[in-house]
Amino acid sequence: MNRPEDFRRLEAKARPVTEIVALLKIPALRVNGTELTGPCPLCGGKDRFNINLRTHAFLCRKCGIAGGDNIALVEQVAQMGFREALTWLQGDAPAEIDPAEAARRRARAEAVERRQAEATDRYRRQAIGDARAIWQRSVPAPGTLIAAYLATRGITADLLPVLPPALRFLPDHPYVKKIGRELVTLHRGPCMIAAIAPAAAVREGRPTATVDAVHQTWIDPAPPHGKAAIRHGEGSYPAKMVRGSKKGGAIRLATPSGADTLVMGEGIETTLSALVAQAVPGAAYWAGVDLGNMGGAGRPGERMSANPDLADEAAFLPPPWVRRLIYVMDGDSNPKTTRATLERGLRRAMALRPGLTGQIVHAGAGLDLNDVLTGKDGE
Ligand SMILES: [Zn+2]
Repeated sequence: MNRPEDFRRLEAKARPVTEIVALLKIPALRVNGTELTGPCPLCGGKDRFNINLRTHAFLCRKCGIAGGDNIALVEQVAQMGFREALTWLQGDAPAEIDPAEAARRRARAEAVERRQAEATDRYRRQAIGDARAIWQRSVPAPGTLIAAYLATRGITADLLPVLPPALRFLPDHPYVKKIGRELVTLHRGPCMIAAIAPAAAVREGRPTATVDAVHQTWIDPAPPHGKAAIRHGEGSYPAKMVRGSKKGGAIRLATPSGADTLVMGEGIETTLSALVAQAVPGAAYWAGVDLGNMGGAGRPGERMSANPDLADEAAFLPPPWVRRLIYVMDGDSNPKTTRATLERGLRRAMALRPGLTGQIVHAGAGLDLNDVLTGKDGE
């Protein structure tokens, strides 16, 4: 019986997309919220392909197969014309994914991936080169605006008479941002440059003169020398920026010999506040640069949880001499996700450095950091 094509079309579109996926034998898709996600039936990969369970819209981010309904899915995956797809959906014709077309698409996707990996690697090496050049150009912190800047953050010269060698200074440093496709210098001026030591040196706990990244804080040239206000057009931009590869690195502000405790805050100022409070005498004080670095990746499938992916080689890991790792949690971040992230980093450290104990303390919420670190807050 040949029913009108309009009717067959509506019928085909109304079927659950999971049925069509089964008919097409598309493997390894899993439900991810309102979508099916997994390898592309044509070009492979991991999670590049998805189908919206409600609208049936589908897309491969790599080879570009895309469409809005069940018929289009059959057309594209099985390489059929519209009529053929409709007929096939009625179940009276065999179909399979054309192996030659799949091979072509896989090869093309692999070539694209290789090019992207090469570009990423080139970009990374360029960024590290830039970071090293900035570090080499910078001058020692004493006698520069850095003392005045830190004083605006409560870290006065009385409290910190000797500035850490990990901090240096550039009097006229450009603030360059990619806007659209162009690099634009939005600002230039005095800048605090902090050395982010490379991951390997950090993990092994060895000193090094080289950096893989720098953390830059532009300072207002006008008194009292707080953070610079950086504006461009309608937008305002953060006064802090990292250049280079920060993964697994740390800003090692103080590392007294014989230390077995490491206190780590996210930012330089938080960590220096902990340092000048000297609540854990003899401890080392390092800044972790950002929460993502301190927490590292979560276990596959539970990225945001407190369970670490122990295979994440890019995350911060304390050196073997650390027996006690204290993460300082800033008061200004989302408490729940921040805590899970920090917890994850501590669990990684405890798993990979047997005998190490981990602890989270709050820097904010009106608590005096010194009280917190001496254990008076009952955390
Ligand atoms: Zn594809």
